[in-house]
Amino acid sequence: MTTEYVVLNEEAPDPEVIRRAGRIIKDGGLVAFPTETVYGLGGDALNPASSKKIYAAKGRPSDNPLIVHVCRFEDIEPIVRSIPPQAAALAEAFWPGPLTMIFKKNDRVPAETTGGLDTVAIRFPSNKIAQALIDASGGYIAAPSANRSGRPSPTLARYCMEDLDGRVEMIIDGGQVGIGLESTIIDLTEGEPVILRPGYITREKLAKVLGNVGVDQSIIKPDSGIKPKAPGMKYRHYAPKGELVILEGSPDKVVAAINRAAAKDREKGIRSGVICTDETRNLYEADCVKSAGSRGDEESIARELFRILREFDDEEVGHIYSESFREGGLGQAIMNRLMKAAGHKVIDLGAD
Ligand code: AMP
Ligand code: MG
Repeated sequence: MTTEYVVLNEEAPDPEVIRRAGRIIKDGGLVAFPTETVYGLGGDALNPASSKKIYAAKGRPSDNPLIVHVCRFEDIEPIVRSIPPQAAALAEAFWPGPLTMIFKKNDRVPAETTGGLDTVAIRFPSNKIAQALIDASGGYIAAPSANRSGRPSPTLARYCMEDLDGRVEMIIDGGQVGIGLESTIIDLTEGEPVILRPGYITREKLAKVLGNVGVDQSIIKPDSGIKPKAPGMKYRHYAPKGELVILEGSPDKVVAAINRAAAKDREKGIRSGVICTDETRNLYEADCVKSAGSRGDEESIARELFRILREFDDEEVGHIYSESFREGGLGQAIMNRLMKAAGHKVIDLGAD
C-alpha cells in the first residue's frame, strides 16, 4: 500500500483533505492524525474489520483495547449502557482534552475494538484536525498511538512515517504535538473513579472535580505483580533500542555516576546517552546529552521525552542514563513512562 502524506494547518485544516481522510476511514481504511497528546492511528471504531487492521498495522496484541475518539459529549450516549454522574462534570472540566473515561459499552461497539472487554474507553480530543476528522469519519474513531507496538509514541508525523509507511492509507502532519504523553485514563464503571493511566490531567486536578479519586495499585506498586486494569499498561511500552537506566539521588551524585559509566562505555566502544535537564546538561561527558527542558518545566519534559528516546535510536546509542523526576503532579505521568521505557531499571544513589 502507498501511504499518502499530507500537511495540514491546525487552525485551518483543508476541508477537502479532511473529507478524503474521513472517506478512507468510513471505507474501512486507516489514517494517522495529530491529537494534542500524541499522534493517533485511526480507524472506524464501530467496524470490527477496521480495528483488526489497526492491531495488524501496529503489531499490537489484540487483548489491548483501543480508545474511541468522539467530537461531541452527546455522542457517548449511543455507544454506552449508562453514563455515570461523574462523566458530565469531568467532561465539563476537561473535554475537549487529554482525559479518557471508561464506560460500560453497548452492542454497537464491537469486541474487536475493546479487546474483548465489556467496557469502552472514550476521549474527546481538543486538536482541531482530530475533531474535523472524527466528524468527517462518522463520529467514532478508534485510535491507539500511531507507533509500532513497543516503540515510543509519536510526537511528530515523521515518526508515524518511520513506523507506519506502507501500512496505512494516509498520514496527516499537523506539526509537533503540544502535550507529548498519552491521555489520563479514568475508570468510571466501578463506584469510586480510579486512574488507570497517569497523564497530563493529574490526580490533583481530577480530585478538585471528583473529591476522591483512586489510582490503580499497579501504577503505585509497579513491581508488585498486581495486574493493571488497563490491559495496555502491562506491556513494556516506549522501549528505546539502547538499554535505559534511571539514576536517583542528589544531582552531584547522579552527574558523577553517569560520567563514570559513560567513561567505561567509551573504553568498550559503546555510545552513551543522557536524558537530563537544562540545569545539568553542561556537566555531562557522554556522547549524546539531551535536555528535556528546565527541571521546573514539567510540560517541557513531558513534550520532549518520547522525541529524545527516538533520537537515541537514530543515533545508535547503546546505553542511556536518565535523571529521575519528581513523582507528584505531571511528574507521575513522566516517571510512569520513563520507568516503563527503562523496564523499571533504577539505580538509587542516595540523597547526599
Ligand atoms: P494507546 O491507545 O496506545 O494510548 O493505548 C490505549 C490504552 O487504553 C491502553 O493502555 C489500554 O489498555 C487502555 N484501555 C482502552 N480501553 C480500555 C478499557 N475498556 N478498559 C481499560 N483500559 C482500556
Ligand atoms: Mg500506545
